Amino acid sequence: MTGSIVLFGPPGAGKGTQAGKIVELTGKPQVSTGDMLRAAVKAGSPMGLAAKEYMDAGLLVPDKVIIGLIKERLQHDDAKKGVLFDGFPRTIPQAESLEKIAEVTSVISIEVPDDAIVDRIVGRRMDPETGDIYHVSFKPAPSEIQDRLIQRPDDTEETVRARLEAYHAQTAPLADWYSDKGLLVSVDGNNSIEKVGDLVEAAVIQLS
Ligand code: ADP
Ligand code: ADP
Repeated sequence: MTGSIVLFGPPGAGKGTQAGKIVELTGKPQVSTGDMLRAAVKAGSPMGLAAKEYMDAGLLVPDKVIIGLIKERLQHDDAKKGVLFDGFPRTIPQAESLEKIAEVTSVISIEVPDDAIVDRIVGRRMDPETGDIYHVSFKPAPSEIQDRLIQRPDDTEETVRARLEAYHAQTAPLADWYSDKGLLVSVDGNNSIEKVGDLVEAAVIQLS
């Protein structure tokens, strides 16, 4: 299957959790703008420092910055046969820019209602060594790595409300935009991690 896949959904929908399965099934590399931005913040680059202000406030980073990151990433050899976009595009202008540089063949939308999102985000923990995503209740980490887990600075109740607001105002309209193009495949993300994994797998198999 050539072309790129977009993994779409609100913050905390389970995009990062399910991305590995799609990478395994398709061989396409995961391109997460959130991970790229966090790497830039960690490196202390001027772009990273500017982006951090938006991220900590729960606002979207300006389109120009994001499109620049994506253009650069798509130059790499491993992107030639398409990638799995995770958390990108998040605005209609981003999707319009993407159209000009890559072919999106399907958009897998993980649907989760707002009232389930806050618990998911506030309980999220990351393993900084492997990048693995855990949850204090829904996916506890093995006890031997508990001490090194971190919580993202933007994973607070206050920030998640701003992120949900940004999602509904700027990102959610993309679902109709992609649906009008016949590319949207919806998955009910309000299920256990395993069940969502099975639904995502079925959706990917249907595409190929
Ligand atoms: P996203 O990448 O969409 O922001 P994540 O994959 O990081 O979302 O998941 C957000 C949090 O919710 C993580 O702590 C993860 O372990 C947890 N999670 C993911 N999918 C589910 C699910 N189906 N049910 C309960 N918790 C989930
Ligand atoms: P989540 O899916 O859990 O909301 P991400 O890791 O995808 O988290 O994104 C974290 C933050 O990075 C977002 O709240 C936003 O500030 C910024 N960000 C990530 N991707 C984009 C994007 N495509 N456009 C604008 N901002 C982005």
